Amino acid sequence: MTSELSPLLRIALLRSRLQALGCKPCHEDRLLRGWSQVASYDRKGSPAASFFPAALRAELPVIEAQLAGLARLHGAFPADHEVARLLVELSDGQLAESVLLPRGGLCVSTQVGCAVGCVFCMSGRAGLIRQLGSAEIVAQVALARHRRKVEKVVFMGMGEPAHNLDNVLEAIAVLGLQGDIAHKNLVLSTVGDERVFERLPLESVKPALALSLHTTDDTLRARLLPNAPRIPVVELVELAEAYARATRYPTQYQWTLIEGVNDSDAELERIVELLTGKYAIMNFIPFNEVDGLDFRRPSAERMAFMVGALKQRGIITQLRDSAGQEVEGACGQLRARAEARPKSAIRVVAA
Ligand code: SF4
Repeated sequence: MTSELSPLLRIALLRSRLQALGCKPCHEDRLLRGWSQVASYDRKGSPAASFFPAALRAELPVIEAQLAGLARLHGAFPADHEVARLLVELSDGQLAESVLLPRGGLCVSTQVGCAVGCVFCMSGRAGLIRQLGSAEIVAQVALARHRRKVEKVVFMGMGEPAHNLDNVLEAIAVLGLQGDIAHKNLVLSTVGDERVFERLPLESVKPALALSLHTTDDTLRARLLPNAPRIPVVELVELAEAYARATRYPTQYQWTLIEGVNDSDAELERIVELLTGKYAIMNFIPFNEVDGLDFRRPSAERMAFMVGALKQRGIITQLRDSAGQEVEGACGQLRARAEARPKSAIRVVAA
């Protein structure tokens, strides 16, 4: 295992390298297309061999090896053929997680660790270890595409995208412009940060927004998400609503359901007050019970009641499966376990 970071950590570094080899934007775009889509660089009537400058053709094997080294499969924990948690080894040996979701979805990590420190999340336990470069984020998509198609990318894995916004937005631009992902199928998840609401409307590729709410109570939210910005919930919903109306993508509200914490009738009433008339979808996510975290998920009956109660009041609501949870538990748990045992003990599955 090396501890050296790749020289191609960010898309901007890759572009500079290509420019130094005499590439024009069309060459850069074709290389980005081929890499992110796991496709040939050739196009009908225009093979890469004649299209790319000679200096790039000579250097291509080295660049391809460095791109492949950005994200390597360290372990795969399949729930079935379509859904699996992937443990991804980065160029410096750090581990991140991606999740193959049903119906062509992929959840990617944006950081190793996370500084928000949500009390119900394993990823936040060790704090922030390092940022992922934009190329490392795209590399997770390329890695997943070696296993199966990817048509939707959600930025909901390890890390808070708002804390690494330049890299996340650079990755989103590549996936939306060269990576063949529809813009509405790029979903940036945040705990709510003013930088996100300022930057997203200005981007050429505007992702859909997922807002991790978890409660309507500001005091409780400060306890559950200790390092999230202290923006009142009412204000967060207003900011998200403005973006949803501008982009015409509904805001996806994320709510990890924890028994006795945020599953009360009072919460349901306040959700109705907050979201009635809003362009919004409420996603309830059952808490994943993991060692060392003293929370439980509500009963199946209670969760079904909550979904039904909101639907009856006109709030689009779904109970989301936490993909792969039956194999290796919550976000960050796979990495935490891998770090706690020798690397040789991890089951490695070839891509
Ligand atoms: S839930 Fe998301 S924001 Fe909170 S600690 Fe985990 S990775 Fe970070």
